[in-house]
Amino acid sequence: MVNPTSSVPSETVTQAAKDALTRRGIETMDIAKIVYEMQIPYNHSLTLEECVDAVERVLRKREIQHALLVGIELDELAEAGQLSAPLQQIVESDEGLFGVDETIALGAVFTYGSIAVTTFGHLDKNKIGVINELDTKKGRGIHTFLDDLVASVAACAASRIAHRTRDLEERGLTFADVKDEEC
Ligand code: MG
Repeated sequence: MVNPTSSVPSETVTQAAKDALTRRGIETMDIAKIVYEMQIPYNHSLTLEECVDAVERVLRKREIQHALLVGIELDELAEAGQLSAPLQQIVESDEGLFGVDETIALGAVFTYGSIAVTTFGHLDKNKIGVINELDTKKGRGIHTFLDDLVASVAACAASRIAHRTRDLEERGLTFADVKDEEC
């Protein structure tokens, strides 16, 4: 029995969120490629390495990790047929009126501000890269929550890059100058 007053160490949550993504076939690079596509029009010197770094930073946030854990768990339970009726059928069929997947994913982007919110909306509508692959994988596993969660992580990372690029410009620095900084 877990002691209800003891908090879960950050490292445990971080690892669990990473493991969940890996288990569902999503790699950091898949998300980084979406981030690159979203931000390259605004930042022509952007590199894929910078996008990978931004995704990794976003994946360290508890807000994001919790959303990943909840959503992926529900996808997996639905895949195993373990949800109760009628939720099982709703998640399994990714029912049109079921918006909780988007709501959880959208809730996780708020800490990254308005650029994250608008980018999330764009990705939700246009389904770029691996998001599109998840969407068209219907019949091969259940990804009702995962497609929105990937959009959420990508949107946060895109917003992080937008803000950080401006900060670096103002300081006369590039990503290469600060990539080892702990922030
Ligand atoms: Mg969905």
